[in-house]
Amino acid sequence: MADIQSKSLLYFKGFLFLMLGAAAAGLLLAERPSFKVAGLLALSIWAFARTYYFAFYVIEHYIDSEFKFSGLGSLVSYLLRRGRRVSREPSADQSITKKSAAMPHPPAAEPSADRPAHAFQKKEFQGGQPGPNLLIVGGVHGDEFEAIAAMHRLIRRFQPLQQQRELKGSLTLVPVVNESAYWRGDRTGEDQLDLARTCPGREEGVETERVAFALSELIRSADFFIDLHSGGTTMAVVPMTGYVLHANADVREQQRRMASAFNLPIVWGASANLEGRSLSVARDANTPAIYAEFMGSGLCDSAGVAAYEEGCLNVMAMLGMLERELPVSRVQHVVEDPRPGAGHMQVCNPSPVSGFFTPNVNLGDEIQAGDLLGVVADLLGEQQTPALADQSGLVLVLRTFSRVLQGDCLGVILES
Ligand SMILES: [Zn+2]
Repeated sequence: MADIQSKSLLYFKGFLFLMLGAAAAGLLLAERPSFKVAGLLALSIWAFARTYYFAFYVIEHYIDSEFKFSGLGSLVSYLLRRGRRVSREPSADQSITKKSAAMPHPPAAEPSADRPAHAFQKKEFQGGQPGPNLLIVGGVHGDEFEAIAAMHRLIRRFQPLQQQRELKGSLTLVPVVNESAYWRGDRTGEDQLDLARTCPGREEGVETERVAFALSELIRSADFFIDLHSGGTTMAVVPMTGYVLHANADVREQQRRMASAFNLPIVWGASANLEGRSLSVARDANTPAIYAEFMGSGLCDSAGVAAYEEGCLNVMAMLGMLERELPVSRVQHVVEDPRPGAGHMQVCNPSPVSGFFTPNVNLGDEIQAGDLLGVVADLLGEQQTPALADQSGLVLVLRTFSRVLQGDCLGVILES
């Protein structure tokens, strides 16, 4: 028999089942009218309804997605097949291992019970002469790639013994700090905590807290620290280096020099009161530290890779770790903004509604507060909601991922 297509006929079919049940229950009660019979009847209807729900919904959605309900007969044959299969399988644990081994990524590189994600993979180069210990990390967010590629280049560069002998001090490189986020290809790991808001973390916390704890230990053991980022999947950032306006004048000055030496167009000193960052840990340890941003949009910009490699080498030369001539400065803007909250990128210019974002400005444009930053359209493109800039200044960060949810950041204006 063909399946019923008409909606009203389907409703009518459901109504007939209800009538059939009501008639049967009514006839039973008419024969033995008592509260006991009525109560037992209600209980039996409820219990059978729950069992049926279990058969057509719960098994498929919570137990085994391969099971497709097509009547009680299908349930019985499924249970019989399953009984035979279970008796052949040694244990549930082993079947989980088998499943994960079939996943697309190289399993040896993924975090495992032997090597948890918070024990990230790092490379240490001990120089042949005394000098400072510089720590450089990338992949704090799992969808930012220039830093990782740049660090691969640095690892290849310092691999030869000759290079290591000429190095003064030591260099520690962690291309991917947040492996769980990296394998997800997302800003955050499985627990959805932003590593750059979770420092200094907890030794016995959830995954990201443990990564934050291990990263914080590493930062405290370093003399200088560089944290390389990009705009991730959703944003693009004007190439820049940043640091916090440290209360200690010596640290502040060293950070300024590191940021300038890194040699990206914008240098941004922001409020020191931001918490949870790698830079907050460095601040508390009085370790001079900078971070860098280079474009993003989920790409791995080759210009960014080259600029990051060169930037790291420039800072090493500035710190006396390498013999290297510093290039001509490419720094165009230096902004120091001590106001609390300055430097917090995720809360700026929130989208007024959810929808499809089309920017009206370009990265690097100078704009005024109230200018049209872009529009957010509904899914038919008919309803266009304007998004106006909250500040005047340079468009430092701009959303490049069109799908936007209400409250998501559309852009960051570097106030001048
Ligand atoms: Zn980042």
